[in-house]
Amino acid sequence: MLTDIEIAKSVKLRPINDIADELGINENLVENYGRYIAKISTNIIDKKKFKNHHLILVTAISPTKAGNGKTTVSVGLALGMHKIGKKAVLALREPSLGPCFGMKGGAAGGGYAQVLPMDKINLHFTGDFHAITAANNMIAALLDNYRFQHEAEGFKLKKILWRRVMDINDRGLRQIITGLGEKNGIETQTGFDITPASEIMAIMCFATSLDDLRRRIDNILLGITEDDKPFRVKDMGVGGSIVALLLDALSPNLVQTTEGTPAFVHCGPFANIAHGCNSVMATAAALEYGDYAITEAGFGADLGAEKFFNIKCRKAGLQPALTVVVVTLQALKMHGGVALEDIKKPNIQGMENGYWNLDKHVRNMQSFGQTVVIAFNKFATDTDEEIEVLRKHCEEMGCGFAVNSAFAEGGKGAMKLAELVVKTIDERPSAPLQLTYNDDEPVLQKIEDVAFRLYGAGSVTLSKSAQAMIEEIKKLGVGHFPICIAKTQYSFSTDAKAYGPTEGFELHVRDITLNMGAEMIVVIAGPIMRMPGLPKSPQAERIDVVSGEITGLS
Ligand code: ADP
Ligand code: MG
Repeated sequence: MLTDIEIAKSVKLRPINDIADELGINENLVENYGRYIAKISTNIIDKKKFKNHHLILVTAISPTKAGNGKTTVSVGLALGMHKIGKKAVLALREPSLGPCFGMKGGAAGGGYAQVLPMDKINLHFTGDFHAITAANNMIAALLDNYRFQHEAEGFKLKKILWRRVMDINDRGLRQIITGLGEKNGIETQTGFDITPASEIMAIMCFATSLDDLRRRIDNILLGITEDDKPFRVKDMGVGGSIVALLLDALSPNLVQTTEGTPAFVHCGPFANIAHGCNSVMATAAALEYGDYAITEAGFGADLGAEKFFNIKCRKAGLQPALTVVVVTLQALKMHGGVALEDIKKPNIQGMENGYWNLDKHVRNMQSFGQTVVIAFNKFATDTDEEIEVLRKHCEEMGCGFAVNSAFAEGGKGAMKLAELVVKTIDERPSAPLQLTYNDDEPVLQKIEDVAFRLYGAGSVTLSKSAQAMIEEIKKLGVGHFPICIAKTQYSFSTDAKAYGPTEGFELHVRDITLNMGAEMIVVIAGPIMRMPGLPKSPQAERIDVVSGEITGLS
Protein backbone atom coordinates (compact mmCIF):
# COMPACT_ATOMS: atom_id res chain seq x y z
CA MET A 1 0.00 0.00 0.00
CA LEU A 2 1.11 3.58 -0.70
CA THR A 3 2.26 5.81 2.16
CA ASP A 4 -0.04 8.51 3.55
CA ILE A 5 1.71 11.28 1.65
CA GLU A 6 1.79 9.25 -1.59
CA ILE A 7 -1.97 8.69 -1.31
CA ALA A 8 -2.48 12.37 -0.48
CA LYS A 9 -0.50 13.42 -3.56
CA SER A 10 -2.41 11.02 -5.80
CA VAL A 11 -5.78 12.66 -5.07
CA LYS A 12 -7.00 15.30 -7.50
CA LEU A 13 -8.14 18.09 -5.21
CA ARG A 14 -11.32 20.06 -5.87
CA PRO A 15 -11.21 23.86 -5.71
CA ILE A 16 -12.16 24.77 -2.14
CA ASN A 17 -14.71 27.29 -3.41
CA ASP A 18 -16.71 24.41 -4.94
CA ILE A 19 -16.79 22.71 -1.58
CA ALA A 20 -17.84 25.92 0.19
CA ASP A 21 -20.50 26.41 -2.46
CA GLU A 22 -21.88 22.93 -2.01
CA LEU A 23 -22.15 23.55 1.73
CA GLY A 24 -24.17 26.67 1.03
CA ILE A 25 -21.56 29.04 2.47
CA ASN A 26 -22.08 32.59 1.25
CA GLU A 27 -19.14 33.44 -1.04
CA ASN A 28 -18.55 36.69 0.85
CA LEU A 29 -17.57 34.63 3.88
CA VAL A 30 -14.90 32.64 2.03
CA GLU A 31 -11.34 33.89 2.24
CA ASN A 32 -8.98 31.84 0.08
CA TYR A 33 -5.55 30.70 1.23
CA GLY A 34 -4.57 29.30 -2.17
CA ARG A 35 -6.87 27.07 -4.24
CA TYR A 36 -7.47 24.34 -1.70
CA ILE A 37 -7.72 26.02 1.69
CA ALA A 38 -10.07 28.77 2.85
CA LYS A 39 -10.93 30.52 6.04
CA ILE A 40 -14.65 30.98 6.65
CA SER A 41 -15.47 34.23 8.41
CA THR A 42 -17.62 33.68 11.42
CA ASN A 43 -19.19 36.54 13.28
CA ILE A 44 -21.18 35.12 16.11
CA ILE A 45 -22.12 31.56 16.87
CA ASP A 46 -25.83 30.91 16.61
CA LYS A 47 -26.61 28.33 19.27
CA LYS A 48 -30.14 27.82 17.95
CA LYS A 49 -28.61 26.01 15.00
CA PHE A 50 -27.04 23.43 17.33
CA LYS A 51 -30.43 21.88 17.98
CA ASN A 52 -31.53 20.43 14.65
CA HIS A 53 -28.26 18.83 13.73
CA HIS A 54 -26.44 15.81 15.04
CA LEU A 55 -23.09 16.05 16.76
CA ILE A 56 -21.01 12.86 16.84
CA LEU A 57 -17.96 12.56 19.08
CA VAL A 58 -15.17 10.18 18.09
CA THR A 59 -13.00 9.00 20.97
CA ALA A 60 -11.03 5.83 21.74
CA ILE A 61 -9.63 3.37 24.24
CA SER A 62 -6.32 4.29 25.89
CA PRO A 63 -3.57 4.76 23.32
CA THR A 64 -0.60 2.41 23.16
CA LYS A 65 2.46 2.23 20.98
CA ALA A 66 0.18 0.50 18.46
CA GLY A 67 -1.95 3.64 17.75
CA ASN A 68 -5.75 3.78 17.60
CA GLY A 69 -6.65 5.85 14.57
CA LYS A 70 -9.33 8.27 15.83
CA THR A 71 -8.65 10.87 13.15
CA THR A 72 -8.54 8.15 10.49
CA VAL A 73 -11.88 6.76 11.70
CA SER A 74 -13.44 10.25 12.01
CA VAL A 75 -12.53 11.02 8.41
CA GLY A 76 -13.58 7.51 7.37
CA LEU A 77 -16.97 7.92 9.03
CA ALA A 78 -17.52 11.23 7.22
CA LEU A 79 -16.64 9.54 3.92
CA GLY A 80 -18.96 6.63 4.68
CA MET A 81 -21.79 9.06 5.53
CA HIS A 82 -21.41 10.76 2.15
CA LYS A 83 -21.44 7.37 0.41
CA ILE A 84 -24.85 6.65 1.97
CA GLY A 85 -26.13 10.08 1.00
CA LYS A 86 -25.77 11.99 4.29
CA LYS A 87 -24.35 15.47 4.59
CA ALA A 88 -21.57 15.03 7.14
CA VAL A 89 -19.05 17.74 7.97
CA LEU A 90 -15.88 17.13 9.98
CA ALA A 91 -14.54 19.36 12.75
CA LEU A 92 -10.96 18.40 13.62
CA ARG A 93 -7.92 19.85 15.34
CA GLU A 94 -4.95 21.36 13.56
CA PRO A 95 -1.79 19.28 13.91
CA SER A 96 1.18 20.50 15.96
CA LEU A 97 4.78 20.43 14.74
CA GLY A 98 5.78 18.82 18.06
CA PRO A 99 4.36 15.33 17.42
CA CYS A 100 4.67 15.75 13.64
CA PHE A 101 8.49 15.90 13.91
CA GLY A 102 8.60 13.91 17.16
CA MET A 103 7.16 10.54 18.03
CA LYS A 104 3.70 10.30 16.50
CA GLY A 105 3.89 11.92 13.09
CA GLY A 106 1.14 13.98 11.47
CA ALA A 107 -2.48 14.27 12.48
CA ALA A 108 -4.45 14.55 9.26
CA GLY A 109 -5.77 10.95 9.26
CA GLY A 110 -4.22 8.06 7.37
CA GLY A 111 -4.41 5.91 4.22
CA TYR A 112 -7.52 6.68 2.14
CA ALA A 113 -9.10 8.60 5.01
CA GLN A 114 -7.21 11.87 5.25
CA VAL A 115 -7.84 15.59 5.19
CA LEU A 116 -5.97 17.38 2.43
CA PRO A 117 -3.63 18.97 1.51
CA MET A 118 -2.04 16.97 4.35
CA ASP A 119 1.47 18.41 3.99
CA LYS A 120 0.19 21.96 4.35
CA ILE A 121 -2.22 21.05 7.18
CA ASN A 122 0.57 19.24 9.06
CA LEU A 123 3.12 22.03 8.61
CA HIS A 124 2.29 25.75 8.54
CA PHE A 125 -1.31 25.57 7.24
CA THR A 126 -2.93 29.01 7.56
CA GLY A 127 -0.53 30.17 10.26
CA ASP A 128 -2.98 29.84 13.17
CA PHE A 129 -0.44 28.12 15.42
CA HIS A 130 2.15 30.76 14.60
CA ALA A 131 -0.34 33.52 15.42
CA ILE A 132 -1.20 31.85 18.73
CA THR A 133 2.50 31.41 19.55
CA ALA A 134 3.20 35.06 18.68
CA ALA A 135 0.24 36.33 20.72
CA ASN A 136 1.36 34.31 23.75
CA ASN A 137 4.97 35.46 23.51
CA MET A 138 3.97 39.06 22.78
CA ILE A 139 2.16 39.06 26.12
CA ALA A 140 5.30 37.60 27.77
CA ALA A 141 7.51 40.32 26.28
CA LEU A 142 5.01 43.07 27.18
CA LEU A 143 4.79 41.74 30.73
CA ASP A 144 8.58 41.64 31.16
CA ASN A 145 8.78 45.14 29.74
CA TYR A 146 6.03 46.39 32.05
CA ARG A 147 7.82 44.98 35.09
CA PHE A 148 11.10 46.55 33.94
CA GLN A 149 9.64 49.96 33.06
CA HIS A 150 7.52 50.28 36.20
CA GLU A 151 9.94 48.78 38.70
CA ALA A 152 11.18 52.17 39.87
CA GLU A 153 7.60 53.14 40.78
CA GLY A 154 7.44 50.12 43.08
CA PHE A 155 5.57 47.75 40.75
CA LYS A 156 6.41 44.16 41.57
CA LEU A 157 4.76 40.78 41.04
CA LYS A 158 5.23 38.29 43.84
CA LYS A 159 3.98 35.52 41.58
CA ILE A 160 4.37 35.42 37.78
CA LEU A 161 1.90 33.07 36.12
CA TRP A 162 2.67 33.58 32.42
CA ARG A 163 5.16 31.42 30.48
CA ARG A 164 6.35 31.46 26.89
CA VAL A 165 5.31 28.84 24.29
CA MET A 166 6.67 27.32 21.12
CA ASP A 167 5.21 24.68 18.79
CA ILE A 168 8.30 22.48 18.94
CA ASN A 169 9.21 19.73 21.42
CA ASP A 170 12.19 21.21 23.21
CA ARG A 171 12.87 19.82 26.66
CA GLY A 172 15.79 22.22 27.19
CA LEU A 173 13.39 25.14 27.41
CA ARG A 174 11.13 23.74 30.14
CA GLN A 175 12.92 25.74 32.79
CA ILE A 176 15.02 28.77 31.93
CA ILE A 177 16.24 32.05 33.35
CA THR A 178 15.58 35.16 31.29
CA GLY A 179 17.06 38.62 31.73
CA LEU A 180 20.61 37.45 32.47
CA GLY A 181 23.33 40.09 32.22
CA GLU A 182 23.26 43.88 32.27
CA LYS A 183 20.46 45.94 30.70
CA ASN A 184 18.43 42.85 29.79
CA GLY A 185 15.45 43.40 32.04
CA ILE A 186 14.65 41.70 35.33
CA GLU A 187 16.18 38.28 35.89
CA THR A 188 13.30 35.78 36.01
CA GLN A 189 12.92 32.03 36.37
CA THR A 190 10.45 30.93 33.75
CA GLY A 191 10.09 28.45 30.89
CA PHE A 192 8.34 27.33 27.73
CA ASP A 193 5.29 25.12 27.22
CA ILE A 194 4.24 23.73 23.85
CA THR A 195 1.76 25.94 21.95
CA PRO A 196 -1.12 23.39 22.13
CA ALA A 197 -0.97 23.68 25.95
CA SER A 198 -1.13 27.48 25.96
CA GLU A 199 -4.01 29.46 27.39
CA ILE A 200 -4.26 31.40 24.12
CA MET A 201 -4.94 28.11 22.33
CA ALA A 202 -7.73 27.33 24.80
CA ILE A 203 -9.14 30.84 24.48
CA MET A 204 -9.20 30.51 20.69
CA CYS A 205 -11.06 27.23 21.11
CA PHE A 206 -13.73 28.70 23.39
CA ALA A 207 -14.20 32.20 21.95
CA THR A 208 -17.65 32.56 20.39
CA SER A 209 -17.14 36.02 18.82
CA LEU A 210 -14.52 38.73 18.46
CA ASP A 211 -15.94 40.53 21.48
CA ASP A 212 -15.74 37.34 23.48
CA LEU A 213 -12.13 36.87 22.36
CA ARG A 214 -11.31 40.42 23.51
CA ARG A 215 -12.99 39.87 26.89
CA ARG A 216 -11.07 36.65 27.44
CA ILE A 217 -7.70 38.10 26.42
CA ASP A 218 -8.23 41.08 28.76
CA ASN A 219 -9.06 38.72 31.62
CA ILE A 220 -5.89 36.61 31.38
CA LEU A 221 -4.24 36.51 34.80
CA LEU A 222 -0.52 37.24 34.45
CA GLY A 223 0.51 37.39 38.07
CA ILE A 224 -0.22 38.50 41.61
CA THR A 225 1.17 41.83 42.82
CA GLU A 226 3.07 42.39 46.08
CA ASP A 227 -0.11 43.83 47.58
CA ASP A 228 -2.06 40.71 46.63
CA LYS A 229 -3.96 42.04 43.61
CA PRO A 230 -4.50 40.12 40.38
CA PHE A 231 -2.54 41.56 37.46
CA ARG A 232 -4.22 40.97 34.10
CA VAL A 233 -3.65 41.73 30.43
CA LYS A 234 -6.18 44.57 30.70
CA ASP A 235 -3.96 46.21 33.37
CA MET A 236 -1.27 46.65 30.70
CA GLY A 237 -3.80 48.02 28.21
CA VAL A 238 -2.63 45.72 25.42
CA GLY A 239 -5.67 43.45 24.89
CA GLY A 240 -6.55 45.05 21.56
CA SER A 241 -3.09 44.47 20.14
CA ILE A 242 -3.23 40.79 21.07
CA VAL A 243 -6.64 40.43 19.40
CA ALA A 244 -5.12 42.08 16.30
CA LEU A 245 -2.55 39.26 16.18
CA LEU A 246 -5.32 36.66 16.47
CA LEU A 247 -7.93 38.21 14.21
CA ASP A 248 -7.46 35.98 11.15
CA ALA A 249 -6.67 32.92 13.21
CA LEU A 250 -10.12 33.00 14.83
CA SER A 251 -11.87 32.00 11.60
CA PRO A 252 -12.08 28.23 11.04
CA ASN A 253 -10.22 26.65 8.11
CA LEU A 254 -12.13 24.73 5.45
CA VAL A 255 -10.35 21.88 3.66
CA GLN A 256 -11.38 18.63 1.98
CA THR A 257 -11.06 14.90 2.55
CA THR A 258 -9.51 12.31 0.22
CA GLU A 259 -12.98 12.06 -1.39
CA GLY A 260 -13.61 15.78 -1.77
CA THR A 261 -15.97 16.15 1.20
CA PRO A 262 -15.80 19.11 3.62
CA ALA A 263 -13.79 19.40 6.83
CA PHE A 264 -13.22 22.27 9.23
CA VAL A 265 -9.77 22.01 10.82
CA HIS A 266 -9.22 24.59 13.52
CA CYS A 267 -7.08 25.02 16.64
CA GLY A 268 -5.32 22.12 18.29
CA PRO A 269 -4.94 21.71 22.04
CA PHE A 270 -3.53 18.32 23.16
CA ALA A 271 -5.82 16.17 25.30
CA ASN A 272 -3.24 15.17 27.91
CA ILE A 273 -1.87 18.60 28.81
CA ALA A 274 -4.82 20.70 27.59
CA HIS A 275 -8.52 20.21 26.81
CA GLY A 276 -8.04 18.25 23.58
CA CYS A 277 -10.70 19.30 21.08
CA ASN A 278 -11.00 21.70 18.14
CA SER A 279 -12.52 25.18 18.40
CA VAL A 280 -16.15 25.81 19.20
CA MET A 281 -16.13 27.94 16.02
CA ALA A 282 -15.26 24.88 13.89
CA THR A 283 -17.79 22.64 15.65
CA ALA A 284 -20.46 25.32 15.24
CA ALA A 285 -19.60 25.66 11.54
CA ALA A 286 -19.81 21.89 11.05
CA LEU A 287 -23.20 21.87 12.79
CA GLU A 288 -24.44 24.84 10.83
CA TYR A 289 -23.47 23.52 7.39
CA GLY A 290 -23.86 19.78 7.92
CA ASP A 291 -26.71 17.51 9.00
CA TYR A 292 -24.13 15.50 10.91
CA ALA A 293 -21.05 17.05 12.50
CA ILE A 294 -18.24 14.60 13.30
CA THR A 295 -15.60 15.70 15.77
CA GLU A 296 -12.66 14.05 17.49
CA ALA A 297 -11.34 14.46 21.02
CA GLY A 298 -7.72 13.50 21.63
CA PHE A 299 -6.11 10.46 23.26
CA GLY A 300 -8.27 8.02 25.24
CA ALA A 301 -11.80 8.83 26.41
CA ASP A 302 -10.53 9.47 29.98
CA LEU A 303 -8.79 12.58 28.63
CA GLY A 304 -10.30 13.97 25.42
CA ALA A 305 -13.91 12.85 25.78
CA GLU A 306 -14.13 13.74 29.48
CA LYS A 307 -12.94 17.27 28.71
CA PHE A 308 -15.08 17.49 25.58
CA PHE A 309 -18.20 16.90 27.71
CA ASN A 310 -17.25 18.52 31.02
CA ILE A 311 -15.56 21.59 29.54
CA LYS A 312 -16.45 22.22 25.90
CA CYS A 313 -20.05 20.99 25.82
CA ARG A 314 -20.75 22.61 29.21
CA LYS A 315 -19.44 25.97 28.01
CA ALA A 316 -20.83 25.93 24.49
CA GLY A 317 -24.16 24.25 25.25
CA LEU A 318 -23.50 21.32 22.91
CA GLN A 319 -25.51 18.09 23.12
CA PRO A 320 -23.77 15.21 21.32
CA ALA A 321 -26.14 12.70 19.75
CA LEU A 322 -23.69 9.81 19.86
CA THR A 323 -20.19 8.78 20.95
CA VAL A 324 -18.08 6.54 18.74
CA VAL A 325 -15.34 4.65 20.58
CA VAL A 326 -12.51 3.55 18.30
CA VAL A 327 -10.87 0.26 19.10
CA THR A 328 -8.09 -1.72 17.47
CA LEU A 329 -7.16 -5.33 18.06
CA GLN A 330 -3.52 -4.43 18.48
CA ALA A 331 -4.20 -1.90 21.23
CA LEU A 332 -6.58 -4.31 22.99
CA LYS A 333 -3.86 -6.96 22.94
CA MET A 334 -1.36 -4.51 24.40
CA HIS A 335 -3.84 -3.70 27.17
CA GLY A 336 -4.11 -7.45 27.65
CA GLY A 337 -0.39 -7.72 28.30
CA VAL A 338 0.70 -9.06 24.88
CA ALA A 339 4.21 -7.92 23.88
CA LEU A 340 4.51 -5.30 21.11
CA GLU A 341 6.26 -7.74 18.76
CA ASP A 342 3.37 -10.25 19.09
CA ILE A 343 0.31 -8.00 18.65
CA LYS A 344 -0.05 -8.71 14.94
CA LYS A 345 -0.49 -12.47 15.57
CA PRO A 346 -4.00 -13.88 16.10
CA ASN A 347 -4.62 -14.18 19.86
CA ILE A 348 -8.21 -14.18 21.09
CA GLN A 349 -7.22 -14.67 24.72
CA GLY A 350 -4.77 -11.74 24.56
CA MET A 351 -7.53 -9.57 23.08
CA GLU A 352 -10.03 -10.61 25.76
CA ASN A 353 -7.48 -9.81 28.45
CA GLY A 354 -7.55 -6.23 27.18
CA TYR A 355 -11.36 -5.83 27.39
CA TRP A 356 -11.03 -4.12 30.80
CA ASN A 357 -9.77 -0.99 29.07
CA LEU A 358 -12.56 -0.84 26.48
CA ASP A 359 -15.23 -1.68 29.06
CA LYS A 360 -14.12 1.05 31.44
CA HIS A 361 -14.12 3.70 28.71
CA VAL A 362 -17.55 2.56 27.50
CA ARG A 363 -18.99 2.70 31.04
CA ASN A 364 -17.50 6.16 31.46
CA MET A 365 -19.10 7.38 28.24
CA GLN A 366 -22.43 5.88 29.28
CA SER A 367 -22.16 7.78 32.60
CA PHE A 368 -22.54 10.98 30.55
CA GLY A 369 -25.78 9.60 29.12
CA GLN A 370 -24.12 8.86 25.79
CA THR A 371 -25.22 6.13 23.43
CA VAL A 372 -22.02 4.36 22.36
CA VAL A 373 -21.10 2.77 19.04
CA ILE A 374 -17.82 0.88 18.74
CA ALA A 375 -15.87 1.51 15.54
CA PHE A 376 -13.43 -1.28 14.87
CA ASN A 377 -10.46 0.25 13.05
CA LYS A 378 -9.31 -2.61 10.84
CA PHE A 379 -5.63 -3.29 10.26
CA ALA A 380 -4.44 -5.68 7.54
CA THR A 381 -3.41 -8.39 10.02
CA ASP A 382 -6.74 -8.61 11.94
CA THR A 383 -8.63 -11.91 11.55
CA ASP A 384 -12.40 -12.30 11.08
CA GLU A 385 -12.52 -14.76 13.96
CA GLU A 386 -11.10 -12.22 16.42
CA ILE A 387 -13.41 -9.50 15.10
CA GLU A 388 -16.52 -11.65 15.57
CA VAL A 389 -15.60 -12.47 19.19
CA LEU A 390 -15.12 -8.76 19.88
CA ARG A 391 -18.40 -7.87 18.13
CA LYS A 392 -20.27 -10.19 20.45
CA HIS A 393 -18.61 -8.66 23.50
CA CYS A 394 -19.53 -5.10 22.43
CA GLU A 395 -23.12 -6.03 21.67
CA GLU A 396 -23.40 -7.64 25.09
CA MET A 397 -22.42 -4.25 26.57
CA GLY A 398 -25.32 -2.65 24.68
CA CYS A 399 -23.14 -1.02 22.05
CA GLY A 400 -23.50 -1.17 18.31
CA PHE A 401 -20.39 -2.49 16.56
CA ALA A 402 -19.14 -1.93 13.02
CA VAL A 403 -15.93 -2.60 11.18
CA ASN A 404 -14.32 0.45 9.62
CA SER A 405 -11.76 -0.19 6.89
CA ALA A 406 -11.62 3.33 5.50
CA PHE A 407 -7.83 3.39 5.94
CA ALA A 408 -7.48 0.79 3.18
CA GLU A 409 -10.67 1.39 1.20
CA GLY A 410 -11.83 4.99 1.77
CA GLY A 411 -15.54 5.75 2.15
CA LYS A 412 -16.82 2.40 0.90
CA GLY A 413 -14.96 0.77 3.79
CA ALA A 414 -16.95 2.85 6.28
CA MET A 415 -20.49 2.52 4.92
CA LYS A 416 -21.51 -0.10 7.50
CA LEU A 417 -20.26 2.16 10.30
CA ALA A 418 -22.08 5.14 8.75
CA GLU A 419 -25.33 3.16 8.49
CA LEU A 420 -25.03 2.00 12.09
CA VAL A 421 -24.34 5.56 13.30
CA VAL A 422 -27.35 6.99 11.42
CA LYS A 423 -29.66 4.21 12.58
CA THR A 424 -28.51 4.47 16.20
CA ILE A 425 -29.01 8.25 16.26
CA ASP A 426 -32.51 7.77 14.81
CA GLU A 427 -33.54 5.00 17.15
CA ARG A 428 -31.81 5.73 20.43
CA PRO A 429 -29.91 9.01 20.54
CA SER A 430 -27.97 9.96 23.67
CA ALA A 431 -29.79 11.31 26.71
CA PRO A 432 -29.26 14.97 27.66
CA LEU A 433 -25.66 15.32 28.81
CA GLN A 434 -25.03 14.33 32.42
CA LEU A 435 -21.87 16.10 33.50
CA THR A 436 -19.53 14.61 36.11
CA TYR A 437 -19.55 17.63 38.43
CA ASN A 438 -21.50 20.83 39.02
CA ASP A 439 -20.11 24.34 38.56
CA ASP A 440 -20.60 25.21 42.21
CA GLU A 441 -18.68 22.28 43.70
CA PRO A 442 -15.36 23.13 45.41
CA VAL A 443 -12.32 22.63 43.13
CA LEU A 444 -11.01 19.65 45.10
CA GLN A 445 -14.38 17.92 44.85
CA LYS A 446 -14.44 18.40 41.08
CA ILE A 447 -11.02 16.76 40.85
CA GLU A 448 -12.20 13.92 43.09
CA ASP A 449 -15.36 13.41 41.04
CA VAL A 450 -13.36 12.88 37.85
CA ALA A 451 -10.58 10.93 39.57
CA PHE A 452 -12.86 8.60 41.53
CA ARG A 453 -15.73 8.13 39.07
CA LEU A 454 -13.90 8.07 35.76
CA TYR A 455 -10.27 7.14 36.46
CA GLY A 456 -10.86 4.80 39.41
CA ALA A 457 -8.50 6.62 41.80
CA GLY A 458 -8.69 5.87 45.52
CA SER A 459 -7.42 9.22 46.78
CA VAL A 460 -6.50 12.71 45.59
CA THR A 461 -3.60 14.54 47.25
CA LEU A 462 -2.49 18.13 46.68
CA SER A 463 1.00 19.65 46.71
CA LYS A 464 1.56 22.84 48.69
CA SER A 465 1.53 24.96 45.52
CA ALA A 466 -1.72 23.31 44.37
CA GLN A 467 -3.31 24.04 47.76
CA ALA A 468 -2.13 27.65 47.60
CA MET A 469 -3.60 28.02 44.11
CA ILE A 470 -6.95 26.65 45.27
CA GLU A 471 -6.97 29.38 47.93
CA GLU A 472 -6.09 31.98 45.29
CA ILE A 473 -8.92 30.70 43.07
CA LYS A 474 -11.36 31.08 45.96
CA LYS A 475 -10.16 34.63 46.61
CA LEU A 476 -10.59 35.51 42.95
CA GLY A 477 -14.11 34.08 43.02
CA VAL A 478 -13.62 31.74 40.05
CA GLY A 479 -14.06 28.36 41.71
CA HIS A 480 -17.00 27.75 39.38
CA PHE A 481 -14.70 27.21 36.37
CA PRO A 482 -14.47 23.64 35.03
CA ILE A 483 -11.27 21.68 35.60
CA CYS A 484 -8.88 20.47 32.91
CA ILE A 485 -6.76 17.63 34.26
CA ALA A 486 -3.30 17.23 32.72
CA LYS A 487 -2.11 13.64 33.08
CA THR A 488 -0.51 10.82 31.12
CA GLN A 489 -2.53 9.33 28.27
CA TYR A 490 -1.13 5.82 28.78
CA SER A 491 -2.89 4.90 32.00
CA PHE A 492 -6.06 5.80 33.87
CA SER A 493 -3.64 6.68 36.68
CA THR A 494 -0.89 9.32 36.57
CA ASP A 495 1.81 6.67 36.10
CA ALA A 496 2.55 6.25 32.39
CA LYS A 497 3.98 2.78 33.09
CA ALA A 498 0.94 1.54 35.02
CA TYR A 499 -0.36 -0.59 32.17
CA GLY A 500 -3.21 -2.93 32.93
CA PRO A 501 -6.20 -2.39 35.21
CA THR A 502 -5.38 0.16 37.90
CA GLU A 503 -7.83 0.93 40.69
CA GLY A 504 -7.53 2.69 44.02
CA PHE A 505 -4.35 4.60 43.15
CA GLU A 506 -3.36 7.98 44.53
CA LEU A 507 -3.80 10.89 42.14
CA HIS A 508 -1.28 13.52 43.19
CA VAL A 509 -1.91 17.08 42.01
CA ARG A 510 1.53 18.59 41.48
CA ASP A 511 0.36 22.03 40.47
CA ILE A 512 -2.66 24.08 39.45
CA THR A 513 -2.71 26.80 36.81
CA LEU A 514 -5.57 29.23 36.53
CA ASN A 515 -6.68 30.15 33.01
CA MET A 516 -8.78 33.26 33.72
CA GLY A 517 -9.26 33.99 30.02
CA ALA A 518 -10.08 30.44 28.97
CA GLU A 519 -12.18 30.16 32.13
CA MET A 520 -10.83 26.84 33.29
CA ILE A 521 -8.59 25.48 36.02
CA VAL A 522 -5.70 23.37 34.76
CA VAL A 523 -4.87 20.62 37.24
CA ILE A 524 -1.45 19.06 36.68
CA ALA A 525 -1.52 15.50 37.98
CA GLY A 526 1.64 13.40 38.32
CA PRO A 527 4.89 13.93 36.43
CA ILE A 528 3.37 15.01 33.07
CA MET A 529 5.24 17.85 31.29
CA ARG A 530 3.52 20.66 29.42
CA MET A 531 6.56 20.84 27.12
CA PRO A 532 7.19 17.38 25.62
CA GLY A 533 10.63 16.10 24.62
CA LEU A 534 11.75 14.38 21.40
CA PRO A 535 12.36 10.60 21.16
CA LYS A 536 15.68 8.99 20.27
CA SER A 537 14.63 8.55 16.67
CA PRO A 538 12.26 11.44 15.86
CA GLN A 539 10.02 11.49 12.77
CA ALA A 540 12.21 14.39 11.62
CA GLU A 541 14.79 11.78 10.53
CA ARG A 542 12.30 10.48 7.96
CA ILE A 543 10.88 13.73 6.53
CA ASP A 544 12.58 15.08 3.43
CA VAL A 545 12.08 17.12 0.27
CA VAL A 546 12.72 15.22 -2.96
CA SER A 547 12.44 17.06 -6.29
CA GLY A 548 10.55 19.84 -4.55
CA GLU A 549 8.01 17.46 -2.97
CA ILE A 550 7.75 16.66 0.74
CA THR A 551 8.22 12.98 1.57
CA GLY A 552 8.06 10.94 4.76
CA LEU A 553 5.12 12.74 6.38
CA SER A 554 2.66 10.26 7.84
P1 ADP B 1 -5.28 9.17 16.50
O1 ADP B 1 -6.14 10.22 15.91
O2 ADP B 1 -6.02 8.23 17.37
O3 ADP B 1 -4.06 9.69 17.15
P2 ADP B 1 -4.53 8.60 13.76
O4 ADP B 1 -5.81 8.52 13.00
O5 ADP B 1 -3.74 9.86 13.65
O6 ADP B 1 -4.77 8.26 15.30
O7 ADP B 1 -3.66 7.35 13.35
C1 ADP B 1 -2.40 7.08 13.93
C2 ADP B 1 -1.51 6.41 12.90
O8 ADP B 1 -2.01 5.10 12.60
C3 ADP B 1 -1.46 7.16 11.57
O9 ADP B 1 -0.14 7.14 11.09
C4 ADP B 1 -2.39 6.37 10.66
O10 ADP B 1 -1.98 6.47 9.32
C5 ADP B 1 -2.22 4.95 11.20
N1 ADP B 1 -3.44 4.15 11.02
C6 ADP B 1 -4.68 4.47 11.43
N2 ADP B 1 -5.56 3.52 11.09
C7 ADP B 1 -4.86 2.55 10.44
C8 ADP B 1 -5.21 1.29 9.84
N3 ADP B 1 -6.45 0.84 9.87
N4 ADP B 1 -4.21 0.56 9.26
C9 ADP B 1 -2.93 1.02 9.27
N5 ADP B 1 -2.54 2.20 9.81
C10 ADP B 1 -3.49 2.96 10.40
MG1 MG C 1 -5.99 12.31 16.06
